[in-house]
Formats: sequence, structure tokens, C-alpha cells
Amino acid sequence: MLESKGSKSSEGSCSELATTLKNTLNYDQLTNCMRCGFCLPACPTFRETGIEAESPRGRIALMKAVADGLMDPDYAFETQMNHCLGCRACEPACPADVKYGQLLEQARDSVEQHTESHRWWVKLARKTAFEGMFPHQGRMRLLGGALQVYQKSGLRGLVRGSGMMKLFPKHMQQMERILPDASYRGVVEQIGSVHPAKGERVGTVGLFRGCIMDVMFTETNKHTVELLNAAGFDVVIPESQNCCGALHAHSGEQDGARELAKRNIAAFKAAGVDWIASNAGGCGALLVEYDHLLHDDQQYASDAKWFAKRTLDVSKLLVEHGRLQSAAAAAAAASKVQGTAPSCGGGTAAATSAEVSENSAGCGGSCGSVSFASADPVRITYQDSCHLRNVMRSSEAPRKLMKSVANAEFVELFESDRCCGSAGIYNLTQPEMAGQILDHKMDHVKQTGAHYLLTSNPGCLLQMKLGIEKHGMSGKMEAVHLVDFLHERICKE
Ligand code: SF4
Ligand code: SF4
Repeated sequence: MLESKGSKSSEGSCSELATTLKNTLNYDQLTNCMRCGFCLPACPTFRETGIEAESPRGRIALMKAVADGLMDPDYAFETQMNHCLGCRACEPACPADVKYGQLLEQARDSVEQHTESHRWWVKLARKTAFEGMFPHQGRMRLLGGALQVYQKSGLRGLVRGSGMMKLFPKHMQQMERILPDASYRGVVEQIGSVHPAKGERVGTVGLFRGCIMDVMFTETNKHTVELLNAAGFDVVIPESQNCCGALHAHSGEQDGARELAKRNIAAFKAAGVDWIASNAGGCGALLVEYDHLLHDDQQYASDAKWFAKRTLDVSKLLVEHGRLQSAAAAAAAASKVQGTAPSCGGGTAAATSAEVSENSAGCGGSCGSVSFASADPVRITYQDSCHLRNVMRSSEAPRKLMKSVANAEFVELFESDRCCGSAGIYNLTQPEMAGQILDHKMDHVKQTGAHYLLTSNPGCLLQMKLGIEKHGMSGKMEAVHLVDFLHERICKE
């Protein structure tokens, strides 16, 4: 049973919320759940607490009870919806194919319309973020610029030295320490928007640059372009694209998410691309569901299907459509690293030391395909992005790429498919549960003995950096985006 902590919703708004939930929740999906419980072991919040209400089955039962008029959607109901990570690990585990993620978004959207539990400053912060910042790429760049000034001007040192950070909660202090270098100039401002393929062309890709991604991880965006070019893709970066809307959708701001989706669809349609590449699992998962988001929009439904069908994570795009060396050729490349000539049917020209980057080895990539090699032997492991794995259903492609890197030993991380606790802004809104989940994750990470902990989503990457710092592993292990790791190890001809 749920523990009630005292409802913060008035009776009036409670019954209005009940009506909205009844009208919004997909009742067919609610009844599809046959209460088998196969999803329970996959659910991180259930595993941490052992409480039924903290499980997918429990949350669906709560939603159904409200839809059936058997219970009021009180504060405890709202709390359970907020405790869910939205990782969707329950979906692949479900034999009845219950669309839990869609039910959760419908529930959160309804709660958000009626909630009275937000304090004034939370409401203001939400409005500023969801309406004033994320939809406007120019403002996001200004934010990146402000952060850049803070990081580069010595202000950061002053703030840290003054002890001012102690005014903030501990998890915010930790987060501040692991923030990457921000940039005022995004990928288009730095390298332009059109990038031709190298060698034989296989098609045109539109890069989805993201909003936070483009100011906090600009280098990763640049590396994504170069990786795609090397594998035979022309790359265009439509300038009128904007935030994907994932943070809106996961926070109960469906209308805002729909507006952003429409603008992105128009931008990529106009660019006439064959595929749309995402390098952030959290964004990609919403991009591939634009068809669901806009399914009852007469004007956009068909274009939304076009968009969703073409969107792939960069790893899947490389593996399924890119000019990559086969595993056999990669093995040949590995032997080249050890001094044997490659046998990929192409050139055997060895790279000079001036031609290879610090971390990559020359391995005769003149066979027209891109390959990867590490100059020094390294051990790598991988934390899945939940949205990439459970929504975009892409877990094999990143592993194929990692295993193709010559001189790198891939070690599977125990329970790599379990959420790391990042989950969008979950680690900020639910720091206790997020911290607990992260601690368990880092216990498994330590066992791998890896030098590099790779991920495919910026949120997971920051959470892994946080885990490494928190568990005293800095200097022994580094968390890196998969794209950055591969880019550093592209074999040069
Ligand atoms: S989305 Fe994740 S946290 Fe939420 S119910 Fe499903 S498995 Fe549990
Ligand atoms: S696995 Fe699917 S059908 Fe079974 S309890 Fe979970 S959500 Fe319901």
C-alpha cells in the first residue's frame, strides 16, 4: 500500500485531475497489463525498495484505479509518478507489450496540469526552462557562453575557494565539479552546416545537434560529423532545428514537446535527408516517437512518421549503413598494429607517426572503409543509455563498434542495461534514489577494471563522471562518449 505523506492537492483539483486522467490515460494499455510481474526484476526503483507501488505493475495499477474511479490521484499518486525514472526497462521485459512509457507521459502530463504541489520558485524555474530557454537555441548558446565565462575566467576558482558552493545541496556541488567545458559557439558556428563524405558516398545524414548537447558537448557533435564523413555520409546540420522536446515530454509538458517536434520535422524535411542521426539516447528516444506524439495532428501526422522512420542512433547508422571495415578486416588491422600487414583488400601503406592521432594506431585504412585502433592496449566497458536500449532498441551496434577497435579489450559491465540514475533531470529532482542507484552501478563498474567507461548519452556520461569522482576512481578510469572514443581512434591512411 502507498504511504500517504499528506496531500498537497486540494479536493477540488484532485477530482479535476481524476477527470483529466480518466480522459487522458489509454485504457486499452491499462487493461493490457495482465499483472504477471515479469517487469518487476527489470525495474530499478522496485529493486531498490521492494515496494509494489514503486514497480511498473504497481504504477499501472494505480493509474487504472484512478481511471476506474476507485481512488483519488492524491499526493502519494503524484509521488509515485515522480519516483519513476522513465527508463522504460520494463517495456522490453513485458510479454504483453504494454506501452508503459506512453502511460507515464499521459499521467505526468495530467498531473502537471493540476498540481498544486510546486512551490512558486519551482513553477518559475520550470516556466523559464521549458518556455524561455530550451526552445530557443540562441538563448541556449548565451547560457553556454555564461557558463564558459564562469569556467574560464577564474570565477569558478573564486566561487569554490569562497565556500559559496556549500550553500547548495551536496548533489549540486558534485554536479558542478564534473560539468564539461561549455561553449558559446555550437557545432554550426564552429564548423558550418554542410560536410561532404570522404571517399565513396553512401547517403545524406541530417545531424540532430540537440540543445544542451550543442553547448555542453560541442566537441562530440563535431566528432560525430567527422565520424559520419569518414564512413561515407554527407552530413548537413539544419540550422532551424531546435530542442527535441524530451525534457518537456518527460516532465508533463506535452504541448511544448509537440511544438518543438513540429519545428524539427519541418527543418529536416526541408533538408531532404536520407537519415537523421542522433548521438544522445535521451533525445533520440523522443525523435523516434514523434509519430506517436503527433499521431492525432492532421497536418503533421504523416511527416512525423517520415521523421521517426529515418531517425537512428549514430552507432546504428554507422554499423548498418556506413562504410565500416568488417570484423575480419578489423582483426587484420589489429595484426597490423602488432606489425603485420593488413589484408583488407586495399592498400597496405603504413601510416607515419605524424599521420596518426595520439590515441589511434596506423592500420592501413586505405581500403575505403573506416576502422579504429588504439595505439596502446586499453580495456573498455559500456553503460547502456536506457532510452537508446529500451526505446531505440539499439544495444548491439555500440558493442559491435567497440569490439571493432583494434588493441582495445571490451569487457561487458554487469547489469549495463540497468539505469545509472541520471534519467534526464531525475538526479536533480530525486537525488536520494539517484545516488543509491549510482552507488550500486559503480560497484559493478569497479569490477571491470576498465580504463574507459563509455556511454552514448550526455546525461549518462555526466552521471558516470559523477560516479567516478564520488567513488575515488578519478585517474584510474575516465568516462567518455562512445563517439569521442571512436573519433580519437580512427585509423589514418
Ligand atoms: S520506467 Fe523504469 S523506473 Fe519506471 S516503472 Fe519502468 S522500469 Fe521502473
Ligand atoms: S510485464 Fe507487462 S503485463 Fe506483466 S505486470 Fe509488467 S507491465 Fe503488466
